[in-house]
Amino acid sequence: MTNYIKIPMTFKSDEKNYLDRQCPNEQCEYVFKINMDDWKDKIIPQNEVHCPMCGHTADSEKWYTYEQLESIKENAQSYATNMVYEMLDKSLGKFAKSIKNNKYIKITYKPGKRVTYKNNPIGQREEWNLDITCEKCGTRYSVIGSAYFCPCCGHNSVERVFEDSIGRIEKIIESQDYIKEKLCEQFTIDEVDNMCRSMLESLLGDIVSAFQKFAKENLVKKITQNISNIRVNDFQIVEKGSNLYEKYLNRGYDKYLSQEELEQMNTLFQKRHILEHNQGIVDEKYIQNSKDMSYKIGQRVVVKKEDAKQLLCIIKKLTTELRK
Ligand SMILES: [Zn+2]
Ligand SMILES: [Zn+2]
Repeated sequence: MTNYIKIPMTFKSDEKNYLDRQCPNEQCEYVFKINMDDWKDKIIPQNEVHCPMCGHTADSEKWYTYEQLESIKENAQSYATNMVYEMLDKSLGKFAKSIKNNKYIKITYKPGKRVTYKNNPIGQREEWNLDITCEKCGTRYSVIGSAYFCPCCGHNSVERVFEDSIGRIEKIIESQDYIKEKLCEQFTIDEVDNMCRSMLESLLGDIVSAFQKFAKENLVKKITQNISNIRVNDFQIVEKGSNLYEKYLNRGYDKYLSQEELEQMNTLFQKRHILEHNQGIVDEKYIQNSKDMSYKIGQRVVVKKEDAKQLLCIIKKLTTELRK
């Protein structure tokens, strides 16, 4: 038979009534906040939680943050210590009494300094910025940065994630000069140049991957027939993606973008491709696919702030139309 000791503990929500939670997936350990009432009323009854970042699912018992586990341990220790003291007090007190009249043994027992158990409510981190309400189930949660899945129903809002990514990318592009200035306080100009260059290159990648995901999910949502053969990667190639929209919805990208914009979009998508797959070194295929005549084979492509800005602008225009 196993005996359990029940230790009373209280979780305290923060000012906005959020409770801290942490993903139990060791690869992730993402910390987020969830509305206390939604946790009690929705999550506990269904006993399943989705990680907003990686989508891992586990029972509701497994989502303590490191800070909460630490406080739980401390609370349990002080509770146990206190219990032992009480037991000692009782039994030694009794024992001392029982031998009071024994002339051979003399025992005096003075209770030591007691650790009193206080049920410390387990505190929360301060409130965060981004409050989200799931469009599907209404669960309220809060994250730093961005999140992909609703902790309650696991719903992945493609549109919200896309908007978040685009907003973040836009901010980074806008603050390029500021970032450069700040970095110059710490690093040499050569190092700063390198860092800013790779930042711009990865921004190009971020725009393309945000677009790919959006374009695929948006298309799938709009058509009813079974289209399991459409892959996210199809939208890495401008022509291929446009053809899919033409085929299923009768409206390719050319309905919304000028020939010039389409060409710019294609060149920048190809730039991203060569950066990712050939370290930016121009090969014959790049020249063929991008129709970019400003490079010779063997050169390395250059990404400028204007390139990222331009691509972002085209993508915003296109996606606004595609979602209609
Ligand atoms: Zn996770
Ligand atoms: Zn939800």
